[in-house]
Amino acid sequence: METLAALCKRRGFIYQGSEVYGGLNGFWDYGPLGCELKRNIRESWWRSVVQQRDDVVGLDAAIIMHPKVWEASGHVDSFADPMVDCRACRRRFRADQLLEEIGQKLERTPDGKGYVWPDNVACPACGAKALTPPRPFNLMFRTFVGPVEDESSVAYLRPETAQGIFVNFDNVVSTSRVKVPFGIAQIGKAFRNEVNPRNFTFRSREFEQMELEFFIRPGTDAEWHRYWVEERLKWYESIGLPRERLHRYDYPPEELAHYASACVDILYDFPFGRQELEGIAARGDYDLSRHQEYSGKSFVYFDPDTQERYIPHVVEPSAGVDRIALALLCEAYREEWVPTAGVQGEPKPVEPGQPAPEGYELRTVLRFAPCMAPIKAAVFPLLKNKPELVAKAQEIYRKLRRRWPVFYDQQGAIGRRYRRQDEIGTPVGITVDFQTLEDHTVTWRDRDTMQQVRVSVEELPARIAAMLGED
Ligand code: ATP
Repeated sequence: METLAALCKRRGFIYQGSEVYGGLNGFWDYGPLGCELKRNIRESWWRSVVQQRDDVVGLDAAIIMHPKVWEASGHVDSFADPMVDCRACRRRFRADQLLEEIGQKLERTPDGKGYVWPDNVACPACGAKALTPPRPFNLMFRTFVGPVEDESSVAYLRPETAQGIFVNFDNVVSTSRVKVPFGIAQIGKAFRNEVNPRNFTFRSREFEQMELEFFIRPGTDAEWHRYWVEERLKWYESIGLPRERLHRYDYPPEELAHYASACVDILYDFPFGRQELEGIAARGDYDLSRHQEYSGKSFVYFDPDTQERYIPHVVEPSAGVDRIALALLCEAYREEWVPTAGVQGEPKPVEPGQPAPEGYELRTVLRFAPCMAPIKAAVFPLLKNKPELVAKAQEIYRKLRRRWPVFYDQQGAIGRRYRRQDEIGTPVGITVDFQTLEDHTVTWRDRDTMQQVRVSVEELPARIAAMLGED
């Protein structure tokens, strides 16, 4: 992960937030390539969940909402992590993580209000056996709305985007042509004052969610839940995460929230362990009922097909953009032996402790699926001091960039330019050379195989579109 984080910084994917002031733990900034990567994730999700379906519509709700929203949702009372403090060194830890590290599980007391805490646990920092019992620590960031800072003006930065959807349920039903079953999708920032931000961007304090609330007729929960788990798994494969490193965790009944009838987490094998990318829960009518109770407004829906009135149930696939971006980076990262100039051969995987094969050198490459690569193609004139080559390369570059993020580079040896693009995951390099001026063909160099073929200039847009699965 350190090597990957260093690459991310060096090549402009991800920087530590507020770095010039020493950083701020749990906050990250995405650079020129990182923001393209996230844009690809968001757009692919939106296409698959909203645009290419006729039963889901979009929404973009405010980050700060009426504080009652968070009372109704249960976040004010119970969106908390159990914390223990060390009385000796004054450090603070998450109780469940602390027990997990010594192979135990944090259990609730039978009344569900407290925790069972073994009293012989040592502080992982100073070793003292002086830990307090676990206490809840609310993860919502508090702020004030308006000029007066008192309890009446307290508001929260949203810890999830979902509630913006529930509170707009009636607005959407009455202003668009949706009928149950239908969904409302939203992408946006969420904020949690995580106690232990860690594993690079995996657990951050500011992050982005892509959430869908899919409203259904009561009683159809199990089938729709199954459907969405399958849909979402297919989507992960479509963006380049192989099925063998994706896993599903089906919650056993005793781990489900009291209102939920099913929950599946989609997990990915990160270098630091198998961890959650997305949770897909069948939440019954819990959320709409709670807002009905707290707001005094009716959330009852009249179903024109069945002539029934009911509060719809909901299936919620909830994913994190930053975690998916991190999974894509982990999946794409490779160090390989590749033939030096003039040597024929395919890239070979690096075996630990083995020296370079004769005539090979090391390269770092990000093997993104082309649809997720930040830059889709790089265009190079073979030599920068030949105006005819430069003019032709720029003409091709200007044409392609109307449709895709494309990069133009004329600096340095051509091999070095290819290698720089390998390191940021650009799937194809297009080189204009002297033959181009004669027969209107260019070199098309594939990132993964490093094979070069000649392609006519006219063919380039169609070939790139095919590579991206856009045709
Ligand atoms: P975890 O158990 O890892 O804290 P969670 O189960 O609380 O996550 P949800 O509330 O289900 O997470 O949020 C849905 C999705 O939002 C998660 O699957 C994840 O992708 C993303 N997410 C949640 N918390 C964070 C965070 N602190 N940093 C980055 N992404 C997050």
